[in-house]
Amino acid sequence: MVGGEELKGQHGQRLKIGVLALQGAVVEHCRMLESLGVIVVEVRLPEHLKLLDGLIIPGGESTSMGLIAERWGLIEPLRSWVQSGRPTWGICAGMILLAERIEDQKQGGQPSIGGMDIEVNRNYFGRQINSFETMLNIDDFYESEKPYQAVFIRAPIITEVSDGVKILASLTNGLDGKLIVAARQKLMMVTAFHPELTDDLRWHQLFLNMVHESRAT
Ligand code: GLN
Repeated sequence: MVGGEELKGQHGQRLKIGVLALQGAVVEHCRMLESLGVIVVEVRLPEHLKLLDGLIIPGGESTSMGLIAERWGLIEPLRSWVQSGRPTWGICAGMILLAERIEDQKQGGQPSIGGMDIEVNRNYFGRQINSFETMLNIDDFYESEKPYQAVFIRAPIITEVSDGVKILASLTNGLDGKLIVAARQKLMMVTAFHPELTDDLRWHQLFLNMVHESRAT
């Protein structure tokens, strides 16, 4: 599916996508989603999750996001959302919040959502270099022959995936070999980089395709 078509979700209405709006890169996602013709809901309260077709958990700082979500009574509703198998995309800090296992956590742990059977290292690149951009090839994209420019900011990586998790993108680093930076498990997707900081809509489109798949099943 590409932009331009009306994107229909529940009850034949336009798709409704939530962006968790606790902290971090929210408006950029909203703009991209609106340009793809979906209705966008900024999620700040448990009731905002009702009637959504899909949810984006954006990048930011996972410890702060976890603490704010806890304070606003959102951790349990978010866990139920994920456990019910609804389409969810976690970006950078959002990927950390969705991971079942977190290496390099803040001391004493951090409130988290979980649900995706991966282990992440929270500040893998932060230790070496704060931000960088690199080109990736994504087989799952339409126009997959066109490389994708990924923007990493104090990014985590995925250090372990279980069976049933599909690797969507990895990069090679001379020291550690292959580093997994995007993956999918059923209707959950995670990326360690920030697609909302580019003009390339292909990750958002891929996610909307997943949301459509969920409507079809
Ligand atoms: N490493 C950060 C964290 O711990 C995530 C950074 C980001 O989302 N850009 O949350």
